[in-house]
Amino acid sequence: MKITIFGTGYVGLVTGACLADVGHDVVCMDVDQGKIDKLRNGQIPIYEPGLESIVKHNAESGRLSFTTDPEQAVAHGLIQFIAVGTPPDEDGSADLQYVTAVARTIGQYMDDYRVVVDKSTVPVGTGDKVRDAVRAELDKRGLELDFDVVSNPEFLKEGAAITDFMKPDRIVVGTDSERAQELLRETYYPFNRNHDRMIFMDIRSAELTKYAANAMLATKISFMNEIANLSERLGADIEAVRRGIGSDPRIGYHFIYPGCGYGGSCFPKDVQALARTARGCDYDAKLLNAVEEVNLSQKHVLFDKVSHYFQGQLSGKVVALWGLAFKPNTDDMREASSRTLMESLWKAGASVQAFDPEAMGETQRIYGDQEGLTLCGTKEQALKGADVLVICTEWKEFRSPDFANIASALSEPVVFDGRNLYEPEMLDRHGLIYYAIGRGRNQ
Ligand code: NAD
Repeated sequence: MKITIFGTGYVGLVTGACLADVGHDVVCMDVDQGKIDKLRNGQIPIYEPGLESIVKHNAESGRLSFTTDPEQAVAHGLIQFIAVGTPPDEDGSADLQYVTAVARTIGQYMDDYRVVVDKSTVPVGTGDKVRDAVRAELDKRGLELDFDVVSNPEFLKEGAAITDFMKPDRIVVGTDSERAQELLRETYYPFNRNHDRMIFMDIRSAELTKYAANAMLATKISFMNEIANLSERLGADIEAVRRGIGSDPRIGYHFIYPGCGYGGSCFPKDVQALARTARGCDYDAKLLNAVEEVNLSQKHVLFDKVSHYFQGQLSGKVVALWGLAFKPNTDDMREASSRTLMESLWKAGASVQAFDPEAMGETQRIYGDQEGLTLCGTKEQALKGADVLVICTEWKEFRSPDFANIASALSEPVVFDGRNLYEPEMLDRHGLIYYAIGRGRNQ
């Protein structure tokens, strides 16, 4: 099948590479010349485990190519995937300018039937907007070509994107066209052999399914963070509570970890966008608003703990920071809790010595020569000359550190752990004071 993907970000590049890997003939188009140049030279603009070798292998085999030329892109694929960004607008709603720009491009250049598949996360009703944008361009050209619009939201997780795409839990396809349904079945056939994972529905329901999934996951996190904050005040241990409730199969152990708030390019913006959609149809989404509110305050919890420890006197303090990415196995720092923490520390006059296994380049790109920020080559270097240690991301390499070294490197033997990586007794034994999230005593 000939396939075109618009957007070579986390979703577009993974989609293109995985579809090529099962034998489809894929062209990836991006307006960012720098990204396309890199990809043509075998360089991957983002960090995603396993992606580099799949891109290289399929580019070499000729099944995966990259272009900035919209005409070539539209001419290539019978299926045209839209996988561009939908960042939050000023009022929290999803900014659809990139999605509609692609729809217009398709209308400008198509000269035969096309299936326009929206993979970006978009508000309910965007399918109609995409259809209108394609049709308006065809009208301008005086053409009456047939095309279908499909909603095919993406559920991959950064850090595990290749596995998620190759072995999806479900493939949601929203369409009102049998022809498009069959073409999407064919496209995804290689990923659907073990059992049928394809769930067909109408376009609006598919669009809402993506938001509902992310809002549900964000709700689980904010709920656990609220119980963690209560645990601290009540002298209970959230880790015991977590195990206690997870054992109920109606609740389950998945995704109920407390922490220093969720970040990333999806949960914050999607919860906001869904709440904005609700307001747009005169519905006050109380729960969604609360999920967002709890998360915003949770992102300040680590700073509050550090500030409380130093009795508000942070000027001149040096904080070692392990973990900058919004979660492990990615270099993505969009809406990361580490950013809220660092920015609060700088405002209070403290400086930060930071290390992340993959997000150092991204930190440099975002903060450049920010005063009060030192980027360190290893987690041990970040400790040297620091007063205390704060952990924001649960990278594997932070799970079993040399506690004796931490204790001797810091001027104050204190660890603030935003991801509850350790057993408090382990740190006690090394003479370290341990502040985590929701762990009763000492917090
Ligand atoms: P991204 O910002 O990493 O990439 C978007 C890419 O689109 C950029 O490279 C940009 O240059 C390109 N682009 C913009 N306008 C274009 C145009 N007119 N033609 C071609 N390319 C264009 O975004 P992402 O993280 O891949 O997310 C894309 C969409 O998928 C968003 O709607 C997001 O909510 C959704 N999504 C993301 C994830 C995730 O984990 N990142 C998971 C599921 C869904």
